[in-house]
Amino acid sequence: MPTQAKQQPNQSISGFEPYKEVKGEEYMGKPMRDHFTKILNKWKQDLMQEVDRTVDHMKDEAANFPDPADRASQEEEFSLELRARDRERKLIKKIDKTLQLIEDEEYGWCESCGVEIGIRRLEARPTADMCVDCKTLAEIKEKQVGK
Ligand SMILES: [Zn+2]
Repeated sequence: MPTQAKQQPNQSISGFEPYKEVKGEEYMGKPMRDHFTKILNKWKQDLMQEVDRTVDHMKDEAANFPDPADRASQEEEFSLELRARDRERKLIKKIDKTLQLIEDEEYGWCESCGVEIGIRRLEARPTADMCVDCKTLAEIKEKQVGK
């Protein structure tokens, strides 16, 4: 469903070369940090463009519909879009936080247990701050709390 897909924030990042490690390379040395900085900046740019586009689109479309049914469906559409934009803004914040972590050279380790998160996982989810195990555990806990 294309409309459904449009509401989802862009969770995947395309258009970058997977990192090629040199044998014996230090984990999260400068070349790796540069690699992820580039990915995150590109992703952030894409998201910000998306936010701008929606705002423009909503300004254009905020025309007066004389028919209340049309108005209602337009409001519905706007509120869906706003919720999607809200998620994108949160994601952008998270990206900023992640970029800061890279700068502080604290990026790439699990926040909870301290193991290396791993390049491949980070390339799939550059904002990941936990290893797979801790993340899974956290998600289970979150469900139990009933969020
Ligand atoms: Zn962990």
